Amino acid sequence: MIQQPNRPTSYDVIVIGGGPAGTALATFVQRQGHSCLVLNDSTFPRYHIGESLIPHTYGTLDRLGLLPKLRESHFPVKHSVRFVSPSGAAADPFYFSETIEGDRARTWQVKRSEFDQMCLDNALQAGVEVRMGTSVHEVMFENGQAVGVMAHQGAEPPSAIRSKVVVDASGRSTIIGKQLGLREEIPNLQKSSIWSYYRGGQRLAGIDAGETTVFTIQDRGWFWYIPLPDDIVSVGIVAAPEYLFDESSDFEKIYQREVERCGPLSERLQNAEQVDIVRGIRKLAYLNRQVAGDGWIMIGDAAGFLDPIYSSGLFLALASAELAANCVHEALEKDDLSAGQLGAFTGALWDGVDVVWRLIKAYYDPTFSFRAFAERHPEHRAALIDCLIGDVVGKDLTPFLDALAKMTPPPARLK
Ligand SMILES: Cc1cc2nc3c(=O)[nH]c(=O)nc-3n(C[C@H](O)[C@H](O)[C@H](O)COP(=O)(O)OP(=O)(O)OC[C@H]3O[C@@H](n4cnc5c(N)ncnc54)[C@H](O)[C@@H]3O)c2cc1C
Repeated sequence: MIQQPNRPTSYDVIVIGGGPAGTALATFVQRQGHSCLVLNDSTFPRYHIGESLIPHTYGTLDRLGLLPKLRESHFPVKHSVRFVSPSGAAADPFYFSETIEGDRARTWQVKRSEFDQMCLDNALQAGVEVRMGTSVHEVMFENGQAVGVMAHQGAEPPSAIRSKVVVDASGRSTIIGKQLGLREEIPNLQKSSIWSYYRGGQRLAGIDAGETTVFTIQDRGWFWYIPLPDDIVSVGIVAAPEYLFDESSDFEKIYQREVERCGPLSERLQNAEQVDIVRGIRKLAYLNRQVAGDGWIMIGDAAGFLDPIYSSGLFLALASAELAANCVHEALEKDDLSAGQLGAFTGALWDGVDVVWRLIKAYYDPTFSFRAFAERHPEHRAALIDCLIGDVVGKDLTPFLDALAKMTPPPARLK
């Protein structure tokens, strides 16, 4: 039974999903004195893709109190990102220290089963109630306002748990998006991804050892190469589905074919052994037409996901959680649970997401390269690195974006 005798039947906030977005929001809101319940369908530790942090997560991780744990962890430290051309010519790495000083100029490559557990433990420490193995079926609405969820544990029938605010942090499950028919594909951006893990892949020396390397595949897509603890490396391809699945739909077969085709990558994997199954997602990108309503909001991947090229997923998950937490707190204080109050965080966030969107479209424009851009516009290299570290929310990047628009046409705004 979900409702055990001494458990409350109603909360200020119910969060669907115990990933980084859900636990971060719950931690902040609980610390403000509001009762928070996090429901997660699986039990932890659990596998998750999305291992490379970007430096601008620093502020939120700091305010969550997670930095000491990350510093003590065995996660490789990431100082840079490097783009390798199809011929194998490696452009110089973009070191984050070019635009930020000190501790903030580095971040981590995380094993998600451990990182997500760390975030969850932090929420528990803040007093958040967490129910693992508890799946939310649907959000309950009364007169158009979200008032709680129907959830079940194991084979038990679903039961109602009420709250003033429902936060959808269910990741790609997009519980509210599906329930209200808000989830949509993104025009002109539909990529697939297939990935696995190796032991013994080549590591670079010194501060480059923890870099993310992006191997570009001519006119097709790219591979990520992300060093993880215990000599493991995460290796995945992102490409158009019509290219990836043209001959077969077998993830394992396609993955082996692509690793072999990418010369500079297979060189790095020469003495490595594949140590995990091949996983994949056929349609990566989606967005919800609306991310806030009366009594509810969406954060992290539940709101949308574009593309992994800039490793912005965890940053956007944490940033949206923190911004949204402030709005939830104010909404509860003022007793104003309207879409306008709860969703007040979305404006600044969407401006930032739009910058990421423009950079994604630029990356996939075959006539454009960031190397050529940085050579032609050395004055904008710092702004480009700001984007790569995630410093895009609440920041005026107009001169950089204007220069970018002269080399690659800007896409229509997402929102
Ligand atoms: C191929 C690929 C590569 C990526 N690489 C990177 C990267 O390098 N760096 C990066 O920052 N990001 C990356 N990402 C994105 C990153 O994985 C996500 O942005 C991030 O995990 C979002 O966190 P979240 O908390 O919003 O969602 P999640 O981490 O997905 O958490 C959602 C939680 O909700 C739970 N849940 C789902 N449905 C229900 C339900 N009905 N009831 C209860 N609980 C439920 C799930 O079990 C899960 O624990 C990548 C994504 C993909 C697809």
